[in-house]
Amino acid sequence: MAEDDTTPDLDAVVVGAGFAGLYMLHRLRGLGMSALVLERAGGVGGTWYWNRYPGARCDSESYYYCYAFSQELEQEWEWTERYPRQPEIKRYLDHVTDRFDLRRDIRFDTSVESARYDEDTRSWSVTTAAGDVLRCRYLITAVGCLSAANVPDIPGLDTFAGQWHHTGQWPHEGVDVRGARVGIVGTGSTGIQAVPVLAADAAHLTVFQRTANYSIPARNGPLSAEESATYKASYDEIRAVQAGSTNGHPFVVSDESALDAAPERREAIYRQAWERGGLRFRASFRDLLADADANETASEFLRDRIREVVDDPETAEKLVPHDHGFATKRPPIDTHYFETYNQPHVRLVDVKATPIEEIVPAGVRTSEGVHELDHLVFATGFDAMTGPLLSFEITGAGGTALREAWAAGPRGYLGLGVSGFPNLFTITGPGSPSVLTNMPTSIEQHVDWIADCLGHLRERGVDRIEAEPDAEREWGEHVQEAAEATLLPRAASSWYLGANVPGKPRVFMPYAGGFARYTRTCTAVAEDGYRGFALEPARTRV
Ligand code: NAP
Repeated sequence: MAEDDTTPDLDAVVVGAGFAGLYMLHRLRGLGMSALVLERAGGVGGTWYWNRYPGARCDSESYYYCYAFSQELEQEWEWTERYPRQPEIKRYLDHVTDRFDLRRDIRFDTSVESARYDEDTRSWSVTTAAGDVLRCRYLITAVGCLSAANVPDIPGLDTFAGQWHHTGQWPHEGVDVRGARVGIVGTGSTGIQAVPVLAADAAHLTVFQRTANYSIPARNGPLSAEESATYKASYDEIRAVQAGSTNGHPFVVSDESALDAAPERREAIYRQAWERGGLRFRASFRDLLADADANETASEFLRDRIREVVDDPETAEKLVPHDHGFATKRPPIDTHYFETYNQPHVRLVDVKATPIEEIVPAGVRTSEGVHELDHLVFATGFDAMTGPLLSFEITGAGGTALREAWAAGPRGYLGLGVSGFPNLFTITGPGSPSVLTNMPTSIEQHVDWIADCLGHLRERGVDRIEAEPDAEREWGEHVQEAAEATLLPRAASSWYLGANVPGKPRVFMPYAGGFARYTRTCTAVAEDGYRGFALEPARTRV
């Protein structure tokens, strides 16, 4: 690269210091590239920095919800529970940051306001909210898929006399709900985690449910020294299973059909998976996400568990999902969620039957009257996948804004690059398996691919890479075909489709073709000289 005014200040700017941004910085350093991470928060962690709500815990198990790139790290870090709590994951990411000396290249409390590509210099100008401008060759977004909070636009919220918080923007000092009347809107993975913990402290808890949800018991507990030692001794096998899996988890989906199994055997398999607990339940049979009849066997098993656990039949019936099949929306796991409704101070309000009309100073008014509250919690999810990328202004070649390019829904090649946006890499972008997988596994795969690509470009004297429109279109079609081969697009209110955000285009965003298949495709693309990407050699300057 010639040292003149066309040379950018940095090889790369990475936006976000969660799992993705931290590892990306580590890999860029390893390539000898100059890089800076910009992070709007005051610390590392991304999702695990912001989501400090009561009960916040990972649904993946600790021994594999972590990085795989360093054996030393795997061996030295001690997880304390089967599923790590938010503070433990945050501590882990702080440890990684310090262990790999990453902090000095992260600028905290720095929001990116805009990023604009300049064709003359083949570089990006990144402007922060403070007005600083950084010029870099490559812009790499590590903004996460679930970081743009979705607070519903309910009339009167600003008149509420109590306190309200979204779970993804929880105050660091915590919220003291002891003895208070608490309301929570939302029964997704977050709400289902928070409800039992809020109920333990609140004088009264009202749960406003729009869509009933399935949930599998987590069966959390401390991780014994023996379990920990076994995992540490087996990491090679664990990582190999993850790499070859559908979802990046270290378990294999059964190759048996739920419809071929005799009813007693099927029941026994579900019962065993239920007792074991956790996300692995969906691996019980191969066709749970592909065949509606097969899915119904699991859905019915889980509906029966709700009826069994919840004492009041009327409340139980409200909690039983009928409008979607198990795991066609992201399945939560829980610790005593359904049991919580047996406590006398917990009330379930079905807001489809009695809709929320407005928020008033005293609480939430539904069509049946006012529910008086001191605290209101919005566990209402996120503007998923596209929200974080559109939260700042990204302008590509020819002055096209990403917001315009994605007006009808996101498009991109492999979820990694977008045509019209040269030298932009989107870690776990729309069209990647990401949210359908164990996130750290997908993140590492993307970061490694991007780092290898950058190494390749440098070796070949290339300084411009852009997804080709045809490759992007074909990938988009493949993403939709892969989704259509599953039951996932049928869950009408799913955030996978953008259906949870009013006005958002309905496009199935993640790649449902499986993690292993996706990885093979990415590897083949790279081996084929980055097929589907246009690579341009650096211009010679005189
Ligand atoms: P979510 O799955 O989108 O759930 C949001 C909930 O709020 C749904 O029950 C939704 O009802 C409800 N809701 C939204 N707007 C509403 C409104 N205006 N009125 C009434 N109800 C409304 O969000 P989430 O629970 O935060 O989870 C998002 C994702 O984050 C998860 O699927 C998962 O991938 C991830 N997550 C992971 C963990 C973990 O690993 N520990 C924990 C939490 C979350 P509808 O269903 O009717 O839309």
